[in-house]
This record gives sequence, structure tokens and C-alpha cells, in this order.
Amino acid sequence: MAPKPKECKASVTAIRWPRPEVIEVDLRMVEPAELPFEAGQWISVPFGPKTVRAWSMLSTPSHKGMLTLSVDVAPAGMGSQWLRGLKVGDAVEFKGPTGGFVFNRADPRRAVFFAEEIGIVPVRSILADLYETGFGRPAILIFWARDPSWLLYDAEFRSLARRYPGFTYVPAVREAPGGWRGETGEPAQVIDRLVHSVDRLVVYACGGGDTVNAVRDALVKKGMDRKSVKWEKFW
Ligand SMILES: Cc1cc2nc3c(=O)[nH]c(=O)nc-3n(C[C@H](O)[C@H](O)[C@H](O)COP(=O)(O)OP(=O)(O)OC[C@H]3O[C@@H](n4cnc5c(N)ncnc54)[C@H](O)[C@@H]3O)c2cc1C
Repeated sequence: MAPKPKECKASVTAIRWPRPEVIEVDLRMVEPAELPFEAGQWISVPFGPKTVRAWSMLSTPSHKGMLTLSVDVAPAGMGSQWLRGLKVGDAVEFKGPTGGFVFNRADPRRAVFFAEEIGIVPVRSILADLYETGFGRPAILIFWARDPSWLLYDAEFRSLARRYPGFTYVPAVREAPGGWRGETGEPAQVIDRLVHSVDRLVVYACGGGDTVNAVRDALVKKGMDRKSVKWEKFW
């Protein structure tokens, strides 16, 4: 059963910028000392009585006393500004873990993961967790971004694909730059070209609402049941 969300305290242990608009924050749990969660879940940071920002875990549940967040701060709202101001040693309060965008290991269907840009965060946690824990079955990741520089953690997915023959990684961008060897086009076009049969398929999609809807519509047109597309909409 999924753990219930709790009020938590943590402290910032490291900050990295994998690209100029994306901040990664490592948090060490203080209270409770460990936070069990399911890969794909998120935490919420309060900014007022009715205002919170949700951020998914990038890290896997195996590092129980540590969490890593990865956030696109280009939206520049209150959450982004707060993250930009964080320093190592700062105390952070949040509630979590929450969310149902988690992989169902009991589901025998073939899994396809689709992520748009920063929507890769919970998908990275799910895939790393699956392969760390001996998931032997095939899975495909279709990772779409406006251009290759937004394919965050690309090297990690390439490495995963080399180490696990069952894992297929397909990067995709809107327009191919010189020398590009992946897919090109809008997300729905990429899905249309890559997914030939929706028979015994389950899709996990994360990103902006418009993209998630376009991906789902493309799959439904191929005969997929809407409920077989699990999704998390970040914006
Ligand atoms: C369940 C859940 C999990 C999430 N996990 C993450 C995560 O792991 N990493 C992450 O970066 N964001 C995540 N988000 C989005 C996050 O909650 C914030 O919306 C985001 O960090 C921007 O916060 P803000 O306060 O700066 O701007 P906001 O005031 O929240 O947003 C300003 C506007 O930008 C839109 N927006 C938010 N994010 C983006 C984006 N990346 N691209 C384009 N438009 C956007 C919002 O919908 C809004 O219209 C998640 C959202 C949900 C619902």
C-alpha cells in the first residue's frame, strides 16, 4: 500500500544546475529520518494557506534518507524563485509523498513511457527503480523535447539501454539539428510513427497537459482504451 503523506523536514545538502533553467536539489531527511515513497510520487511545498507547489522525486526510493528534486525554473513563479534562492544547509518543510503516477508491477502489459522535457523526472525515478531492482521485462522510453539540449539525463538513458537489452530509449525532438539520429516531429506524430500496435500495451505519460492529451488522443485513435494511458500533468 502507498505510504500516507506526512509533514516532513529536510535540509538542503547539494544544488546543481544540469542546464541553465533546471535546478537539482538534494535533500537529506531530518524528520522523519527516512521517507518511504513509490517511484513516480511527489512532495508539496507550502507557500501559503492554499498555495503549494508540487515537485516529483527524481531519485529512487532506495536512498531512503535522501531525495533529489529536479525543477525547470523557467516559469519564474513563486516556486521557481524560492528554489533559485535555496542554499546548502537551508531547512525545507514539505508534505509527502503523494501521487498515483506509479508503475504497477503486477500489470503484465508491455510498458511504454513518454515524457516531455522536465516531465522526465518521475519517469527517471520509475525506470531507475525498476532496473535497480531487477525488473527483467522490456520497456520503452520515448523522450520528447523541443531540442536535444532539453533531453535531460540523456546519457543516463543511453547507458541504461546499453546495460539492459530489454530497455529501449528513443529520444525525439521537434526539428532535427545536423547529425541528429533520433526521432523528429511533434509528440503525437512521434507516437503515431513508433507505436504500431496498442494490443496489451500500457502507457505512462508525463509533461504538459496539451502534450499528454495529444499523446493520449493519438493512442486512442489507434484503438487504445483511454484508461490504459496513465498520466501526470505538470502544467
Ligand atoms: C504532480 C506534479 C508534479 C510536478 N513535478 C514537477 C517536477 O518534478 N519538476 C518541475 O519542474 N515541475 C513539476 N511540476 C510543476 C510545478 O508544480 C510548478 O508548476 C513549476 O515548478 C513552476 O512553479 P512556479 O511557482 O515557478 O510557477 P507556477 O506559478 O506554478 O507556474 C506558472 C505557469 O507556468 C506553467 N508551468 C509550470 N511548469 C512549467 C513548465 N515546465 N513549462 C511550461 N510551463 C510550466 C504553470 O502551469 C503556470 O501556468 C509538477 C506539477 C505537478 C502537478
